[in-house]
Amino acid sequence: MILSVRPGPLVLLVPSRAAGMELPRRLASTGRAVAGVYPLTLTDLARAVAEPTLLGRGLQAWDAGHAALVAARLLEAPHRLKLAPDVPLDRVAIALARTLSELRRAEVEPARLDTAADAGATPEDRERLRALAGLYRGFHERIEGHFADHATLFRAAREHLAEARWLEGAEILVADDLELDAVERRLLAALAARFPVRRIGRVRPPAIQASGFAGWAAVNGIREVEWKETELAAIAPSPAPAALARVKARLFEPPSGPADRDDSVDLLTAPGEAAEVRGVVRALLREAARGVPFEDMGVILPRPQEYAPLFTDLLARLGIPCRLHPSLPLRFGRTARSLLLLLRCRGLRRAEVMEYLTFAPIPFAEMLGEDVTPRPAQWDAMSRDIGIVSGLDRWIVGLRGQAETDRGEAARENDPERAERRRRRAADADALLRVVELLSGTLDALSGEASWPDWSARLRGVVDQWLGRERDREAVGDVVADLGGLAFLGARAPWREVERVLEARFEWERLPLDSLATGAVHVGVMDALAGLPFRVVAIPGLVEGGYPGVLRPDPFLLDAERQGLGAPLAAPEPAALPPAVRTPRSPARRQLSLFDDDPAPPPPEPPAGAREPIALPTAQDRLLAERRAFQRAIGQATERLILSYPRADARTGRERMPSLFFVAAAAAREGRSLGAADLARIVREDALDDTPLDLTLDRSERDRRRVRTGGREAALAISAGSAFFKQSHLSARARWSGQLTPYDGLIAFAPRDGVTTELAAEIARKLDPVTAPGPISASRLAVFARCGFQYLLECVLRLEPAEEPEERRRLDPLERGSIFHEVAEKFLRSQRDREVESGGKAVPAHFELGFGLSREAAPGEPHLQEALSIDIGDGRTLRVSGKIDRIDRRPDGTLVLRDYKTGRAPRDDGGLFRGGRQLQIPFYILAAARIFPDTPVVEAFLDYVDGGRQVGLDPALVRSDSFRALLRGLVDAIGKGVFVQEPTACEWCDFKVVCGPTPLLKRRRQLKLGDPRIQQVLRLRDVT
Ligand code: SF4
Repeated sequence: MILSVRPGPLVLLVPSRAAGMELPRRLASTGRAVAGVYPLTLTDLARAVAEPTLLGRGLQAWDAGHAALVAARLLEAPHRLKLAPDVPLDRVAIALARTLSELRRAEVEPARLDTAADAGATPEDRERLRALAGLYRGFHERIEGHFADHATLFRAAREHLAEARWLEGAEILVADDLELDAVERRLLAALAARFPVRRIGRVRPPAIQASGFAGWAAVNGIREVEWKETELAAIAPSPAPAALARVKARLFEPPSGPADRDDSVDLLTAPGEAAEVRGVVRALLREAARGVPFEDMGVILPRPQEYAPLFTDLLARLGIPCRLHPSLPLRFGRTARSLLLLLRCRGLRRAEVMEYLTFAPIPFAEMLGEDVTPRPAQWDAMSRDIGIVSGLDRWIVGLRGQAETDRGEAARENDPERAERRRRRAADADALLRVVELLSGTLDALSGEASWPDWSARLRGVVDQWLGRERDREAVGDVVADLGGLAFLGARAPWREVERVLEARFEWERLPLDSLATGAVHVGVMDALAGLPFRVVAIPGLVEGGYPGVLRPDPFLLDAERQGLGAPLAAPEPAALPPAVRTPRSPARRQLSLFDDDPAPPPPEPPAGAREPIALPTAQDRLLAERRAFQRAIGQATERLILSYPRADARTGRERMPSLFFVAAAAAREGRSLGAADLARIVREDALDDTPLDLTLDRSERDRRRVRTGGREAALAISAGSAFFKQSHLSARARWSGQLTPYDGLIAFAPRDGVTTELAAEIARKLDPVTAPGPISASRLAVFARCGFQYLLECVLRLEPAEEPEERRRLDPLERGSIFHEVAEKFLRSQRDREVESGGKAVPAHFELGFGLSREAAPGEPHLQEALSIDIGDGRTLRVSGKIDRIDRRPDGTLVLRDYKTGRAPRDDGGLFRGGRQLQIPFYILAAARIFPDTPVVEAFLDYVDGGRQVGLDPALVRSDSFRALLRGLVDAIGKGVFVQEPTACEWCDFKVVCGPTPLLKRRRQLKLGDPRIQQVLRLRDVT
């Protein structure tokens, strides 16, 4: 059925491509004919009208990145803008490009800015405005007559409407409110003067009505009509339920009237963003269960970068079809990201090369041949083990050496399996070296200077060689191809500039829409989905500080100056727009007031023939635009609206507040202002405990839900079917229990869980320092004293941190300590004889004296071959080895013992234990007594060389019962496998990644303080 007969087409003017695609599709699905309907955004329409003219004039295409490039070039040339010397010019160029583009879009003549500069409020303002005027003139001259930028495109469309034959007899129907800048409004006004233009009505609060498109359209002869009066009548949304209708009509208005409490407006929160997304998806599934098709659901994202990946990942995992409309920067795509990673490999630093090789979709088969199996994980481990840092030479030497070694070993190996493993490693080294050499060649080709077309061709080759098929590959290819058209910037360009352009384009361009045959939940940023009604709309992420973001004034052109430029021009222009055209200026308002207490007055009628004033948006205008965008998004819901925010920061656990927009919607629903307590009452938490089992999203949620309601029995039942669940459940319970358990440092070597009695006895014997085959070193006992768990990881399990090989620019604390020891020893040895002769008080006498060590620490010193044996009572003897840093001799022959420390000195001097730092000295005193039986040690101290501080220990203490008791306590704890985590020692520990965040350790420690084994270890700290 043809709906109506009109002499020309129906141009359906839509605010987004999504609306342009979906509205005709929905209309077609009702059986109505859609012939002669042209769904277009205003920009598409402008292009269709202006392109023949612009091409005829030989103008070049313009894209979002060009403005920043031109701005960067202007900043590189002499200019009068005062910039701090350390300010990054790239960022300034981007901000400046925004201001200059706005001036172009508002069709400001450069001379007008000169005039404004003369009227600046202060000398500084005048200087800044003159500098801006100079830059704007340069910007304007580079574009005007050379490029079809936004302003040129819309001006050309306006001027050549009459030549657009395809528009003859057209009617224009505006599908929803449009957010237009000055040149766009002028084009629409020109259309309205030439063609019948109608707009579909929608519910708007009075303030939104006055400040936005509707207010402007009303005074420009664009008539509002109902859906049912239009060609889209068949897909007219049904009237909204009361609460939803009220929120649409009263948003940002002073709240009043009784609340509407149907369930059409769902206010939702959850602990963090991921939980919030789960809550929203659960709500969508509820809607699906009541019969709403997925394609009638829209998830509108004010903060796409945070939320789009969360939604698409979760929906994909649940098998729910989803269509992500262009919302994310292109750099989020795998091809663009891979290309940027490849460019970061310059210098061939290992970490960057491996990140690229393990992430990018590299067509290895084409590169290395079908018979080579690429193994990036093995390449990563191998290059780390070899210690490659960067540079092609290091890669070549390291990998060739590795391949040769492995081949040699394989040839000598008798075990065929081991030999095969060696051969595979050699093949890995060969393949990796081949890839790195190719990469090096590619990066070499991307350096120096070349013409833009040449850069474009080289990058095309890089994409072809290094990046396989991905959904964003074509879009990346387009960006690379566009580089060829940048010759206007200069005949040749350095690589640095090319890289900057690529990065900027990947930031500005959006990831393309995925093609999908089935109906799907629509997900997208606000402008990408604008104008498309859905039965169910969810708007997540409405959190304070997140949305709306902070709106800062433009530093180049202040708000007052923008308003000054907006004052109507005195003389009307002859070929001006129809008399009705004008732009209502927003009244000055308080920044971010929640409600509009004094609705904006209607715009004043301009004098006949006046040209539209220059419209440069201020920060307040941008805030009003944010409000309109939010109200328009809410207006897209026809049956159910879900608004949500995360009530806590997932990383820090800090509480977060809902945004003012969320509160405004809640207040509109309730008909009154709301405090924190009111919100807590009316906002629903997506709590797993209250979720019926059939609404759990996946197995993990189902299991957690069962455990919470069914307790231990449910946990056991689930554990029976899942070893993974069993282990994680056991460990979670144990870690948060009130006792030390095998999950947090207790080596329970009782014969159980398959451990034989013999094996348990063997473990116990090896752990116990008294029964262990060799002596324990004094420094290991000190590690235990610092943190029992660190002793377990470092001295029992022998874990070592996997460190990235790096160019040495500074020493680590261990190396620093050992170099200090070496240098101090050499220096003091050289001084020794001189000081003896000088008759000083105590002179250095011996260095690096070992006891119980297999090899001598320093030749020529009186070492003690055997370990120190200490009777710790109960018939047990502890054998200890170690090395004394230095012994000085006084004139009376008595000894002074020093132990160097290169770390921070403790704040107090009391206690033997002191985080283990002081534990070594008593052993040294005892060893010295054995080495020099006739000479007493009368003084001993820790020498903190960094702070020049010394902490003494009374040598008599080593004979005391308390020292023996301390050793007994340490030996008992180690022997019984009690390895307690010590959160106060975490700051400089290498194992933080194993243990997790310190605050968490502290909380668990509090829970377990009642365990007698922990108490025993803690009491050792009090030994004095
Ligand atoms: S991170 Fe803390 S608790 Fe863990 S081993 Fe190191 S010092 Fe001990």
